[in-house]
Amino acid sequence: MECIFCQIAEGAIPNVTLWEDDETLAFLDIRPLRPGHALVIPKTHAARLADASPASMQAVMATVQRLTPVITQLTGSTDATIAIHDGPAAGQEVPHLHVHIVPRQPGDGGGPIHALFDRRSSVSSEEMHDFAIQVQQLVAQ
Ligand code: AMP
Ligand code: ZN
Repeated sequence: MECIFCQIAEGAIPNVTLWEDDETLAFLDIRPLRPGHALVIPKTHAARLADASPASMQAVMATVQRLTPVITQLTGSTDATIAIHDGPAAGQEVPHLHVHIVPRQPGDGGGPIHALFDRRSSVSSEEMHDFAIQVQQLVAQ
């Protein structure tokens, strides 16, 4: 069965569109965490971050940047949480890359991403530096 967000991008499934351009579509989340909760997708299918081209991500983030102040203003919010669930273990349910825009304001009952975990991992300074060296070597390849 075809991807649900591809079907939305093609107009085969209805959506409440906020913005559309050649590369991206933004629409309201059908089960909003807050009024104005929106999703921004690349029109070209990419299951997750690693599958999207840098150009596509640039277009997606430009749409996020364009819409966020408008959504916050119209919902009487001051701030926004911008989030990607990159893969199922991170909470991704729809396997087509999407950026959540959730308008936020003080006392709205939500938390920061730190609230995703009830305790933090203990990582030593040495482990952090070793990790950084491995990343620098791999990312340069
Ligand atoms: P995620 O957990 O990041 O994969 O979130 C997927 C989001 O897509 C959820 O917040 C859903 O409410 C939303 N969603 C699923 N189907 C639709 C749809 N047909 N139209 C709008 N939003 C949808
Ligand atoms: Zn898709």
